[in-house]
Amino acid sequence: MTGNRRNQGIQGIKYSCTDGKCYDCAQYAELPKRVKHREASADHLNVISRNKHGISRKSISDSALKVLYRLSKSGHRACLVGGGVRDLLLDIHPKDFDVATDATPEQVRELFKNSRIIGRRFRLVHIRFGRDIIEVATFRGYDEDSAKNETDDHGRILRDNTFGEIEEDAIRRDFTVNALYYDIHDYAVLDYVGGMQDIEDRQLRLIGDPATRYPEDPVRMLRALRFAAKLNFGIEESAAQGIFEFGHLLAVVPPARMFDEVIKLFHSGSAARVFELLREYDLLKYLVPELDEWLQDDPSESMLDFIDQALVNTDARVNTGQPVSPGFIFAVLLWPAVHQQANSMQSDRHKMIPALMQVGETIMKRQVRHISIPRRFSQMARDIWASQPRFHRTQGKQPLRLLENTVFRAAYDFMCIQSMVGLMPHKLCRWWTEFQVEHADIERPERTRKPRPRRRRRRAS
Ligand code: ATP
Ligand code: MG
Repeated sequence: MTGNRRNQGIQGIKYSCTDGKCYDCAQYAELPKRVKHREASADHLNVISRNKHGISRKSISDSALKVLYRLSKSGHRACLVGGGVRDLLLDIHPKDFDVATDATPEQVRELFKNSRIIGRRFRLVHIRFGRDIIEVATFRGYDEDSAKNETDDHGRILRDNTFGEIEEDAIRRDFTVNALYYDIHDYAVLDYVGGMQDIEDRQLRLIGDPATRYPEDPVRMLRALRFAAKLNFGIEESAAQGIFEFGHLLAVVPPARMFDEVIKLFHSGSAARVFELLREYDLLKYLVPELDEWLQDDPSESMLDFIDQALVNTDARVNTGQPVSPGFIFAVLLWPAVHQQANSMQSDRHKMIPALMQVGETIMKRQVRHISIPRRFSQMARDIWASQPRFHRTQGKQPLRLLENTVFRAAYDFMCIQSMVGLMPHKLCRWWTEFQVEHADIERPERTRKPRPRRRRRRAS
């Protein structure tokens, strides 16, 4: 950080430093001890006092505040951390609030009846308030002796339950902008890793050396792309280079964790941009290899438009609070391969349904080796594909039967996007739109489950 470019502030922060070290010289503090995590180190603590940052308690959820205050009143250190702090500093409404504390999971559990300890490899406490879940993590530390046993041959962290000090916790987080702590004790923001500067520079900087931090948890590369897309941030050069170097490690991430992360990518509200970044950083081949192969092989413009349009539509739905399904996303991402292979297997349009069913099953079987897609979603994708030829049938009883199908709404959206980009006749979308209006009273058996409180999974799988 250089000292002479500090006079524009983030949300009212006034920078007075000229020594190139900190945000607020008055509160600049040498850490009690130099904390080291291999290459990463937290040398300085920059304290941005309550009147020098824009975070107000009004923008923090009541549930998060309750958790912070109860921990604090019980004598524990309690801070908001992660996306909540980052997003509030950027004037974005946070998706959720994460709390970090020096209380152990058992102590947190004792304080909150509505809580449960989750995760074996990374133990956390989930505190539930209705549908809202506050995730509470105990500050992590680094134990040199146990480190070897806690990683696999690739350096991937298998277990991370060594507790430590807040400054150790900071350098074990992924990006500097995710390692800012809002301390409920005095409402100051604590910055151990230069995250405030990176917020101002709008860039994602990995904490520590990419050669250690990506292999420890390759999912951090996907997180980099997600945050870059969502926040419209750049990725700092070494963090960006590291993605090309270590992208192949995504192949060792368990498929169940890949499912969670891929859904976060495509349901982030910035899926269209995420897709561009996945291509730019050459990561698509570890997620959806059949799509990557199709893209290498002279892809048709209309199919490219289809993917783009489907992701733009998904973003619009997410950003306006409409429901979205992983089944639809996988139907979109695998459609180029399914469409191409079914067409080369069967040229007769009237026999297309069995061809789509057969190809769909084969492609899905290959896909689930990389990402374990729960059956209800993989089945939904296959039903969406197999129902596409049925939209051509607009005579007799067939349209009503299709309308009653559980997957109709998603299949209809899919068909309309196809018709928009010229993969299906234009008039079909209009016809089906009008047909639905005429039969608005049709009841469809409920297939999707009732929404459950959000489960969250993170870090080392
Ligand atoms: P959002 O919730 O908006 O998606 P977030 O940054 O809060 O973004 P979470 O998954 O909620 O992401 O995680 C909370 C915080 O935990 C992160 O900000 C980061 O500090 C830390 N964290 C999460 N996953 C990892 C990881 N794989 N490696 C290191 N730190 C992580
Ligand atoms: Mg979060």
